[in-house]
Amino acid sequence: MWVLESEDHQAAVVDGPNAQGALAVCAAEGLTLTTLLTTHTHGDHIGLHHHLDLEGRLASLRVVGAAATASAIPGLTDPVAQGDVVTFGGVPLTVWRTDGHLTGHVCYLGGDAAFVGDTLFAGGCGKVFDGPMSAMADSLMRLGALPSQTAVFCAHEYTLDNLAFAWWVEPESEPLRARIRAVRALRAQGRCSVPSTMAEEQATNPYLRPGSPQLRARLAELVPEAPLETTADVIGALRRLKDTGRHRQVVDLEAV
Ligand SMILES: [Zn+2]
Repeated sequence: MWVLESEDHQAAVVDGPNAQGALAVCAAEGLTLTTLLTTHTHGDHIGLHHHLDLEGRLASLRVVGAAATASAIPGLTDPVAQGDVVTFGGVPLTVWRTDGHLTGHVCYLGGDAAFVGDTLFAGGCGKVFDGPMSAMADSLMRLGALPSQTAVFCAHEYTLDNLAFAWWVEPESEPLRARIRAVRALRAQGRCSVPSTMAEEQATNPYLRPGSPQLRARLAELVPEAPLETTADVIGALRRLKDTGRHRQVVDLEAV
């Protein structure tokens, strides 16, 4: 989960599996929790809402989430859709609907930050549960076109596994090698690899690089049966190959 702090010490929390972490951060930092920003309705993202509801604290909060999934978001007060603007602490956050992982998934973009939920991950992307793959491809291409200085706040620390897959499909990429070494060093110190920057994602995240001739050539070797004509074809081939988990048998990050 991510906690946003306003100048007048209000807190907005983006998603969360439970209330414990959010309330602990607010208490430690002297913040009043006023707002929940919901990206989608998987349990590890709206467990927060359910817990706050059980504690009788949800009713006093502003709860922002997709109008398209309104019935699945406890306490929803501000249903939003593509292009809407939500303001927190005087900072406008633009809502982007990014279907693919789950229908009705939304991201919040503003102030050189993007809260991307489970659509884009550091070095990877979310699983495609609802799809279709073309929607996921559109969502990823839109996010990948954000300015390079955008900080990418994704929802899970899956970076090393994602980068192992990336190394399998783009072997010997120098930006990827540098990123793998940097993330391994961070993780060895018990530190997070997120947020990342869009510049890093554009350079090393295979799902944002479907036009790369080297990537396409490598995919043609690894999955000769997969069509690789459209952007959605390439992203679909990548996602399905990652889902097999085969990269975990063949990539040794210590050797990178
Ligand atoms: Zn999810």
